[in-house]
Amino acid sequence: MNTRSLSFRLVTWYAGVLSVVFVLLGALIVLWLQRYLEADFIDTQARRARQIAGTLLVVATRAHAEVLTSEVERLYSPEASDRFIRITAEDGQVVYLSGPPKDERFDPRQVPVAPAAAPAARTVDSAGAHLLVASARAHGADGSAFLVEVGGARTGIDAILRRVLTLLALALPLAVAVAVAGGFILVRRALTPVAQMAETAEAITHHNPGERLPVVRSGDELERLSLALNHMISRLEAALHGSKQFVADASHELRTPLTVMRGELENLAQDHHLAAETRESLGSVLEEVGRLTGIVEGLLALSRMDAGEAQAPAQRVDLGELAATTAGQMSLLAEDKDVRISCAAAPDVAVSGDPSRLKQVIVNLLDNAIKYTPVGGEVCLTVTRDAGMALLEVRDNGIGIPAEALPHVFQRFYRVDGSRSREQGGAGLGLSIVESICGAYGAQVEVSSTPGAGSTFRIRQPLAGKT
Ligand code: ADP
Repeated sequence: MNTRSLSFRLVTWYAGVLSVVFVLLGALIVLWLQRYLEADFIDTQARRARQIAGTLLVVATRAHAEVLTSEVERLYSPEASDRFIRITAEDGQVVYLSGPPKDERFDPRQVPVAPAAAPAARTVDSAGAHLLVASARAHGADGSAFLVEVGGARTGIDAILRRVLTLLALALPLAVAVAVAGGFILVRRALTPVAQMAETAEAITHHNPGERLPVVRSGDELERLSLALNHMISRLEAALHGSKQFVADASHELRTPLTVMRGELENLAQDHHLAAETRESLGSVLEEVGRLTGIVEGLLALSRMDAGEAQAPAQRVDLGELAATTAGQMSLLAEDKDVRISCAAAPDVAVSGDPSRLKQVIVNLLDNAIKYTPVGGEVCLTVTRDAGMALLEVRDNGIGIPAEALPHVFQRFYRVDGSRSREQGGAGLGLSIVESICGAYGAQVEVSSTPGAGSTFRIRQPLAGKT
């Protein structure tokens, strides 16, 4: 679980606040209930005490106090109703004391004597039980004063409070759990558009700069964010398009003067009157112009690929056949370097694409293989089916590529060894073109190499369906 995530922090905060609120609310309810139950109980006892004082004692005299005993027993039967009743005369003599209740919960004899200024209600302890006692003062027929105390154990109140506490203890975690689960779902739902935006943003590359993030129509910061990001992508797209257009225009403009220069230089080189030194210089200038033409052609090809031009004329291409003819055409170049090219192509391995672009892939790979394989080396080109895909492999036993350079060989203008590559006429664009074309047709290119032993380039492309 990611404890730094927004959803975790929100839900934790929410759960914490909710728990505190519930606990406070529970405590308030229990306190209020306790007060209410106690007040109600005392009220009942006080009413009974006043009743005794009002009905029995007004007719009683100090001398006939014992009459009270039978009357109280008859009218209120305190033992049967678990009640404590005590009537005390002015001089402290107990005129009447109820017996122990039937459940023996308290002992009336142990209830402390009421203080001189006994409050209207008080809590007392008797034999380990808490009693709530209300008192009332009365005067008998002969003017003698009495204190009537009526009370009862608060066991009933405590039982109710315990039950309410148990209920709250069970309900509180349950309520918090339900609220947290609900909160988690809500936060998740609220963050879903953000996740969708991130997913779409991750999928936007220079291949699909026209894609936009989903706009959340919530009218809040989320909507503002999605709109702002979309505006930013639009600006980036315009900038990208501008720079691509610049490269395309520049390479296109450079092509014609370079062709003219090349023609003129070739014509000049034909002149037999030229001094040997001049001819040599001309030859090297021609070589540089040729390299420049290669770079310009490469840049033009890449900018066209970037513009998505290659995707237009996709057709069914027999990869084996294409590989065999291309290998045949390149064998002259290989022979010049005394490198042997072999081609083994399985029949009927068809892919979808533009044949001239796919051919360029094979040409670039074979060209590199021949370039970077010393005299007497061997280059193998194979086309097979592998796991439901077409697999084109160009393997050489040349100089190989160092492991640290492998991740970079497909980058534009990257050369493993600038001087070595330059001698061979490379500018570091060949493999970028291969990758660009492969990307346009859903193919994947990978390379493995052992320095000094050779390299293998593999291209996996989905097979074309039967037509
Ligand atoms: P270049 O035009 O310079 O050959 P590429 O893009 O075709 O550029 O290749 C990039 C780099 O990868 C080259 O500079 C070269 O060092 C290395 N490379 C490519 N193919 C091979 C190969 N078959 N054997 C050894 N090195 C290779």
